[in-house]
Amino acid sequence: MEIKANEISALIKEQIKNYEHEIDTKDVGTVISVGDGIALIYGLDNAMLGELLVFPNDVFGMVLNLEPDHVGTVILGDDHSIKEGDVVRRTNRVMEVGVGDAYLGRVVNALGQPIDGLGPIKYKNTRPIEVIAPGVIKRKSVDTPLETGITAIDAITPIGRGQRELIIGDRQTGKTAIAIDTIINQKGKGVYCIYVAIGQKNSTIAQIVDRLSNAGALSYTVVLSASASEPSPLLYIAPYAGCAIAEEWLYQGKDVLIVYDDLSKHAVAYRALSLLLKRSPGREAYPGDIFYLHSRLLERACKLSNEYGGGSITALPIVETQGGDISSYIPTNVISITDGQIFLMSDLFNAGQRPAIDSGLSVSRVGGDAQFKGMKQVAASIKIDLANFQEMKSFSQFGSDLDSSTAKIIRHGETLLEVLKQNQYNPYPFEKEVFNLFAVKHELLDTYPLKDVKNILSQAYEYTLNNHKEFIETLKKEKQFSETIEKQLLDIFKTFLTIYDEENK
Ligand code: ATP
Ligand code: MG
Repeated sequence: MEIKANEISALIKEQIKNYEHEIDTKDVGTVISVGDGIALIYGLDNAMLGELLVFPNDVFGMVLNLEPDHVGTVILGDDHSIKEGDVVRRTNRVMEVGVGDAYLGRVVNALGQPIDGLGPIKYKNTRPIEVIAPGVIKRKSVDTPLETGITAIDAITPIGRGQRELIIGDRQTGKTAIAIDTIINQKGKGVYCIYVAIGQKNSTIAQIVDRLSNAGALSYTVVLSASASEPSPLLYIAPYAGCAIAEEWLYQGKDVLIVYDDLSKHAVAYRALSLLLKRSPGREAYPGDIFYLHSRLLERACKLSNEYGGGSITALPIVETQGGDISSYIPTNVISITDGQIFLMSDLFNAGQRPAIDSGLSVSRVGGDAQFKGMKQVAASIKIDLANFQEMKSFSQFGSDLDSSTAKIIRHGETLLEVLKQNQYNPYPFEKEVFNLFAVKHELLDTYPLKDVKNILSQAYEYTLNNHKEFIETLKKEKQFSETIEKQLLDIFKTFLTIYDEENK
């Protein structure tokens, strides 16, 4: 992509010839070189950073570099039709996408155009894909839980509406599964969802869309996909476009959940663009503004104060690690931007602990404020119990004789891990989550064989639903255990266990 002397002299001659029409070079430019989704353009003196440009054949581009003698742009689409010498025009607009309710249930590309074959999307408004995030004055702290329906997360790393919680782990550890289950669990909760897929296979996207549609979750969800086969500029703008769609609902006072799957591929796409634009490479060849790439995106997730409508955007960015290393460049960046992380471990996943959440390394820095009281009542000691269990377990590997208190801690930890196991596409309602954890808290299951624990729990839940529905209803409504409920539920559980023991003698 060198600028050759004879090309420059040709341009200078052209410029002298058109000296009278100098005004033209302000809004119009000529392509000097094109390739790999990047075009260098002479002219366009007035171009703004991030401005949308029009190439011939209605191909769009976006300004990324403003150099003294040329403008570096990315091409949002097929670059094969663009030739050297083509005329490029300014639009005086920054890049925008269509937004609004017309997008619900649709699958679109990074430009907001439908790719699901269901016809055009009739949107009324558009929004710029890059905006400055709301300031401190407009915000308030998170106060409402965003229930994932995954017991381990709702209990240990609760997420509040407006929070940014990172899902991080090696490949194939169930990262996407957590995000999809969370979307499925928003059914009937008034939360709009956006799933932004960056650099994934089209077949994976098709599967996800199928899953969402089967679970009845597509009607409140938008899937925005920039797949691995598309040029990197589209992968680069995809999360910003998704966020613009979310902001439309945010400012209408609604709650939105947005998943970025995943930001490692986003960073790689941006690195490719930056290197092609000849920006100087830094650590791991990423450009210097790689932190800003993700911070300006994730800062747009927020909980607005009541004067500004009280809407929220909850962001679940996903980052892939290599060999469980969370201290490499992109993971540390995103960890420091977000309000907490859910760390998934291959070892746990392969040992059958699914979701494979490492309770020691996972945190939620603000979500506790938004946790329902009932969940706090049963989940308060889980993290400590698990930490004790891990410690005792590694300790007990050295000797076979365990004193009774150590054995008890280990058994309790094992029961807890068993209860936290949960299948994919099977989010639990709040009352079921706390019912299960209630049984763990009161150590009702520690004497039964581990393999029976899940079965006993689901039978106990059935039993309570059939015979004492009012307790489940009260839990569901009040979201907490009063002293009487706690006592009565304990009695019900014990009655059930007596029946169970009778039957399984
Ligand atoms: P990738 O790095 O390829 O994006 P990922 O980390 O997003 O992978 P998933 O695709 O969500 O992982 O899950 C990997 C596999 O594990 C899938 O086959 C999925 O069905 C399975 N899986 C995920 N979560 C669970 C679960 N809770 N129970 C059982 N199977 C699960
Ligand atoms: Mg995935």
